Amino acid sequence: MTEASKPRRVLLKLSGEAFGGGKVGIDTVVISRIAQEIKQAVQQSVQVGIVVGGGNFFRGAELQQAGLDRSRGDYMGMLGTVMNCLALQDFLENAGQPTRVQTAIAMAQVAEPYIPLKAIRHLEKGRVVIFGAGAGMPYFSTDTVSIQRSLEIHCSEVVMGKNGVDGVYNADPRKDSSARRYDVLNFHDAIVNNLAVMDSSALSMAHDNNQRIRVFGLEEPGNVTRALLGEEIGTLVAA
Ligand code: UDP
Repeated sequence: MTEASKPRRVLLKLSGEAFGGGKVGIDTVVISRIAQEIKQAVQQSVQVGIVVGGGNFFRGAELQQAGLDRSRGDYMGMLGTVMNCLALQDFLENAGQPTRVQTAIAMAQVAEPYIPLKAIRHLEKGRVVIFGAGAGMPYFSTDTVSIQRSLEIHCSEVVMGKNGVDGVYNADPRKDSSARRYDVLNFHDAIVNNLAVMDSSALSMAHDNNQRIRVFGLEEPGNVTRALLGEEIGTLVAA
């Protein structure tokens, strides 16, 4: 199969914040909409792997501030991502979209273990694969995991859906009305200017392995489908 005739395979990163609609727990209206938008892209032959964050439940660094052991807090964060995975799976399955959840921490009753070759087979069969429990290791973030999973299952692009921002800006648009959004940004500039795109481990892994990332806003209806289909929304971070 030539490069051009290969189906498009994309890794979608969804922030936990979006799942919670700004609160702790899940916002079913938001998740239902995102599920419909994912299904629309799969119907147009896009293969979709998903990494879901867990910030709507716990972040290890925040729990550490409250006095918990950092690693234990991180494990709590990872378990939070699995709850989001199951919620998204439920809405996708109800919409008629077959899915599999694979977790980096074994939990046989709720999900398959993470097996990259099996994930690829699922994608080839038109199933959406949702990756939970991050990397299974403390001190990592789901942004970094999205780059790693994308590389391992051979996605052409990571599309990173953010809440409250629709791309990468040269300053915080919530604080500075003159902030300007980049259409395209290279890794070097993102790192040197310390732009708040994603965490630095994710950015450097993408840079080292030349993994394209499109950062876009999740709030705008239709954006998930657009990003999955390869439309030029938000900001493209690339070499
Ligand atoms: N986490 C971790 N290892 C991983 C992925 C996540 O320890 O490989 C923990 C970490 O505490 C993190 C939390 O899970 O803060 C939730 O993930 P993240 O903050 O990336 O979620 P998001 O900000 O995307 O909602």
